[in-house]
Amino acid sequence: MSTAVTHPFLHLAPLTAARFASIEDRVARLLRTEQDVVIMQGEALLPLEGAIRGTAGPGTTALNVITGPYGQTFGDWLRDCGATVIDLPVPFHTAVTAGRIREAFAEHPEIDFVSLVHAEAATGNTNPVAEIGEVVRERGALFYLDAVASVGAEPVLPDAWGVDLCVIGAQKAMGGPAGVSAVSVSARAWARMAANPRAPRRSYLSLLDWKERWVDGGRKALLHAPAQLEMLALEACLERIEAVGLDAVMARHASAAAATRAGAVALGGGLQPYVDEAADAAPVATTLRAPSGVDASELVTRALESDPGAPLAAGGGALAKEMIRVNHYGPDATPGAVRASLSALGAALAARGLTVDVEGALWAAEDARR
Ligand SMILES: *Cc1c(COP(=O)(O)O)cnc(C)c1O
Repeated sequence: MSTAVTHPFLHLAPLTAARFASIEDRVARLLRTEQDVVIMQGEALLPLEGAIRGTAGPGTTALNVITGPYGQTFGDWLRDCGATVIDLPVPFHTAVTAGRIREAFAEHPEIDFVSLVHAEAATGNTNPVAEIGEVVRERGALFYLDAVASVGAEPVLPDAWGVDLCVIGAQKAMGGPAGVSAVSVSARAWARMAANPRAPRRSYLSLLDWKERWVDGGRKALLHAPAQLEMLALEACLERIEAVGLDAVMARHASAAAATRAGAVALGGGLQPYVDEAADAAPVATTLRAPSGVDASELVTRALESDPGAPLAAGGGALAKEMIRVNHYGPDATPGAVRASLSALGAALAARGLTVDVEGALWAAEDARR
């Protein structure tokens, strides 16, 4: 093979600062935000950690809402920064309410930072960010939101909701790459970072570096060579969402979630939606509770043997025994992926000797998705 043969991944012109800035502008439009958007050159954990380390310190009192594994991680980072952390754990089969947030402020008026995960792909719940944002704004605290699993599946509106740090990734509902991610940063959040002596500077975790050397410089010179392939993939995925329309992409996810939930109930065999109330269930992914006495990860393994293409996974960590995840996001937010998931789960349950109605499940799914 000749080395002169071109390859689409290998013979790329350098990504210019102007192109990079235009991709940031597209993300800003997707989020309907006037705030600065910084695209970080790593998976979403990079801006998630960078935003906490940039804004939190020993003077911070943080209310950390835990509706899944990410909330636990944020609490660890906050404590590591020296912040006083008030954890608000919420059972994973529910969502937090604005009332719970209001109570936390009443009990601890010194709270000046709130961290929240919008939707949790890992637990399948979604939280009412608009209502919570009202409470946070009333109290003047800084509002940090992980919208990685919600963006593209349901509205994410940092400006309308008063979110100061809104982190997104493209690898879930946007159907894009995992290697770059973005954060919108309010003027208040920039001011908090600038005043924080512990905020990372001259560091890969530093948002302030991007503020001072990229944003304030009129976005003329990049800090380092960007992750070019990932940036182009992000641009392509944003273009596709713009072409189809964000509303249509979100509707596909809502429809897949409704169909999966209804189908799982109709399937029987003891399978149950994991999240009690449909209103608290995330459109990005549907979690199910395995029938009692059935190990969820074994069930998923068996289901994937019958259809390796079904977007199924067992819950992570301690949830692996009881939780099944139907990851109907991005290219899998389709009636076909939902049908494949229900059929594969039906086959696995039947193989365990449980009585299921696959036909009825597929009908129920079809009925619910419209
Ligand atoms: C998926 C997800 C992330 C990113 O994590 P990956 O496992 O690397 O995809 C961050 N936060 C939330 C809430 C997520 O669901």
